[in-house]
Amino acid sequence: MIDLHSHTNESDGTFAPAELVDEALRTGVTSLGITDHDTFAGYDLALPCARAAGLELICGIELSTKLHGHSVHLLGYFLNTDGLGDLRSWIRDLQSARRDRNIRLVARLQELGVDITLAEAEARGRGMTGRPHFAQLLVEKGVVPNLREAFDQYLDESAKGYVYRKEPTFHEGVEHIRKAGGISSLAHPIRVKGDIAALTPELREMGLGAIEAYHSDHSPQDTALYLDVARRFDMHVTGGSDFHGAVKPDVSLGTGCNGNLRIPADLLDKLRNGKNGN
Ligand code: AMP
Ligand code: ZN
Ligand code: FE
Ligand code: FE
Repeated sequence: MIDLHSHTNESDGTFAPAELVDEALRTGVTSLGITDHDTFAGYDLALPCARAAGLELICGIELSTKLHGHSVHLLGYFLNTDGLGDLRSWIRDLQSARRDRNIRLVARLQELGVDITLAEAEARGRGMTGRPHFAQLLVEKGVVPNLREAFDQYLDESAKGYVYRKEPTFHEGVEHIRKAGGISSLAHPIRVKGDIAALTPELREMGLGAIEAYHSDHSPQDTALYLDVARRFDMHVTGGSDFHGAVKPDVSLGTGCNGNLRIPADLLDKLRNGKNGN
């Protein structure tokens, strides 16, 4: 069994990299893609464990990008990790922009009368501290009753505490993945607003190489639609559970929600046989 979409606690999952490797062995996943949000730290830490255990580990990443004003997740897969240097330094820049935003966000929240420090937020999110961690803190401190209100009142783009962070565009993400020798894939297309078939020519033009047709959030009809789009536009297909551990307890590694995920194993061979496209 293969699973090309999973998260460790180096981004917003709950399993440490070594624990995720153990989970793959336990569940019968033989090729595992780690696709943490905006970091390779989980993959780097898991690699020695996977090698020792005989698990094939695929280096991946999930970038948060902007497309037509919306947040869209973009996966990158690096079957050969030799050329990752520039991508790693670009990602370090994204992380420092995030930290700079977090410093300004703390100042803004303090201005609004919230008793909060950067250290408290970073204790939860470490290198990938983001608004969801701030939302948790606001709830724990009793500032708001729940996460929804934390976003509505303070953290959402339209809320009083919002602080701007520069996010890469989808096109930039695709370009950086391509330059690093990787294959880009549109993550969980079900969450992309609008008609995917109508949007795909533009994404293809930008250099998008694949579409994540298999995902825990997809019904069989969704998957069939995305497979058809991939075929029509001559793109690769990827698939994964989007495992996050205890924060998404319904999603199991390899098999998704109640076994709704069946990722064909030959999909990985097809990815290996052609770069970014065919
Ligand atoms: P950040 O990358 O730190 O700016 O945080 C972005 C993340 O916050 C997104 O990936 C979502 O998980 C979450 N988020 C953003 N806006 C909302 C919202 N209105 N309601 C709930 N979660 C949100
Ligand atoms: Zn995630
Ligand atoms: Fe995602
Ligand atoms: Fe994900």
